[in-house]
Amino acid sequence: MKHILMIATGGTIASKNTGAGLKPALTSRELLDCVPEIESICSVEAVQLFNLDSTNIRREHWLAIAQRIEAEYGNYDGFVVTHGTDTMAYTAAALSYLIQNNKKPVVLTGSQKSVYLRDTDARKNLYDAFAYCADDRANGVHIVFDGNVIMGTRAKKTRTHSYNAFSSVDFPEIAIMREGKPFYYIDEAPEGDVRFYRAMSDRVFVLKLIPGLRPEIFDYLSEHCDGVVLETFGSGGLPDYDDDGLFRRLKGFLAGGGSVVITTQVEREGSALSRYAVGRRLLDCGNVLEARSMTLEACVTKLMWALAYGGSPEGTARLFSAPVGHDIF
Ligand code: ASP
Repeated sequence: MKHILMIATGGTIASKNTGAGLKPALTSRELLDCVPEIESICSVEAVQLFNLDSTNIRREHWLAIAQRIEAEYGNYDGFVVTHGTDTMAYTAAALSYLIQNNKKPVVLTGSQKSVYLRDTDARKNLYDAFAYCADDRANGVHIVFDGNVIMGTRAKKTRTHSYNAFSSVDFPEIAIMREGKPFYYIDEAPEGDVRFYRAMSDRVFVLKLIPGLRPEIFDYLSEHCDGVVLETFGSGGLPDYDDDGLFRRLKGFLAGGGSVVITTQVEREGSALSRYAVGRRLLDCGNVLEARSMTLEACVTKLMWALAYGGSPEGTARLFSAPVGHDIF
């Protein structure tokens, strides 16, 4: 029997109604006790790392989860992380960069309804997460939700209320869960030894373009950030109004050693900067990185990781552009 560590972090799955709204309250043990069938597929130990609405989860928590997994890596066959759905895609992407060449499964799951409700999705999601985690062929960081196994770098929350809250963006699901068993669409194992990383920069910002955006916003970012993800329109590009102020400031930011990733606000199919003149001139700036098919969650967390380990704008660019867990193509 596989030996699995459950790391509980909070979320709706562990919530109770407090009178002031839903709040995580259940312990990891109480959560496990709601799905006793899990004990028939694997042996489980559980830790409660925090009990937070995932709105509050950020870099410090990603590092804490990764470090706990590193500390316990030799003691377990896999890890199930229970987590709120709101920022689960960020955590899944962050863990994909913090734990690379990972041959053991790290499975994130949660639910849209508290485990106590009659029509909850919590019990099925939790059971599926353990069933996938206990499978011999499972490896790497994934979200298991509503019967789908989604690559950690490819997941996005695309529905607020429905049970099929997560989509795999521009990449197939790795597997689907049927009657508690995974059916694989993609079955591959990483090469090389597992590598843990312990740092991420928090000096990253996402700037979403709107028509008429005032360029001065970049002056603030230049002072407070080392990396900016620019969510541009369509295939990608920068407007040239207001004396081309945005472009001039962006070049100044790059000259000062900053890193810029250009992505698109369009949810599917990614950027194609070379397509239009408004985009192509960005490619000539040097060290402007293109997100292409990456999700925003992957862009943000990869940039945080690449800034911490790059050592220079060129090093950051190299790390950011190299594929990790099918995040970019
Ligand atoms: N606000 C909750 C959270 O992300 C939502 C959920 O878990 O579904 O923690």
